[in-house]
Amino acid sequence: MNPQEEHPTVSIFREFLQIRTDHPTPDYESSTKFLVKKAEEYGIQYEVYRETGLPIVIMKIEGEDQTLKSVLLNSHVDVVPAVTESWKVNPFAATKDEKGDIYARGTQDMKCVCIQFLEVAHRIAKSGKKLKRNLYLTFVPDEEIGGTGKGMEIFVYTEKFKQLNVGLCLDEGLASPTEDFTVFYGERAPWWVHITAVGNAGHGSRFIEGTAVEKLMRTVNKMLAFRQEQSEKLHKCDHECGKKLGDVTSLNLTVLKAGIPQDHSNNYSYNVVPTQAEAGFDIRIPPTVNLEEFLQQLKDWTAEEGLSFKFASYIDKNEMTKLDSDNKWWENFKASAKALDINLVTEIFPAATDSRFIRNLGIPAFGFSPINNTPILLHDHNEFLNEKVFIRGIDIFMGIIPNLVNME
Ligand SMILES: [Zn+2]
Repeated sequence: MNPQEEHPTVSIFREFLQIRTDHPTPDYESSTKFLVKKAEEYGIQYEVYRETGLPIVIMKIEGEDQTLKSVLLNSHVDVVPAVTESWKVNPFAATKDEKGDIYARGTQDMKCVCIQFLEVAHRIAKSGKKLKRNLYLTFVPDEEIGGTGKGMEIFVYTEKFKQLNVGLCLDEGLASPTEDFTVFYGERAPWWVHITAVGNAGHGSRFIEGTAVEKLMRTVNKMLAFRQEQSEKLHKCDHECGKKLGDVTSLNLTVLKAGIPQDHSNNYSYNVVPTQAEAGFDIRIPPTVNLEEFLQQLKDWTAEEGLSFKFASYIDKNEMTKLDSDNKWWENFKASAKALDINLVTEIFPAATDSRFIRNLGIPAFGFSPINNTPILLHDHNEFLNEKVFIRGIDIFMGIIPNLVNME
């Protein structure tokens, strides 16, 4: 290849980045058309599954033994919105600078991995070599709005998914700013809690006892003290014990409501003690924490002041993939990384991805985006990926995926 010429897979990647799959109006028909065209070109079996209400592109490379558990490469095709004014280039033009940095929404999260998986399938199909197990690729919608409704959460419970007979799933990870590569084996459970306090009302000039705001604030302060503890756990021992964000419970007060608004104005009745006050929290709990015990903690915090709470987001199950010697997939993955001479660091994913739906079925899943020496810019302005890092990622996947698919 002429060094002036662009690697053909980089061109495909840039083309895919230009398809507007950003929320709130992702163009899934165009991304589907694009993927289907590639599958046809590469001679890969495919189908477009629409039973969940949105297209899911499923590709298959048939293995020798249909009875063995398959390997699934799952990626989401949607991306978060981009605030164009905050970018130095058009976030949907996939502009490449002289260093080979490609700027676009989705370069890291996760259209890079979509195209890397596709290219791995292409290379395997082209080689004509039969693999032991079935290899599947799924390209799913709506991960960025939680994967619920028409996404992965529903898909994993379909007959179609069951038929894939998945033994291991690879899905997205995060970029790593160092030479190391990060593998994620679990995620924190997102709990959104809405707390309501009710108390005595009265005139603002008097000492009213048992007000809603007082009760709420006492509970909020207990929760913020817990937040402080967790923050210290993370920051104080960062260098000594290597705790990462995924290892601690984070908690943020994101909603706070009280006060009686006056009709037809933006003013409040400052002289009225309100009977109700509300607070909302975004809590992220690592899979190492017992969720039942944490729920009890939340009940205790609120019960002490007689407050009620409800969840805006709640899960009672948060499985992680065990990385011990019993996990043959992990042993295989590690051996491949060693052969590639790349260093893996294992972590709990600080936020949520589609992997959680897979893990909760008891299926192991690794979150792995082969991106190193790159700042973490997912959901950020000026998200980029260097073309060399992208191409090396394909080689890394080629050194890992066929070994997994051929595992005894
Ligand atoms: Zn993602």
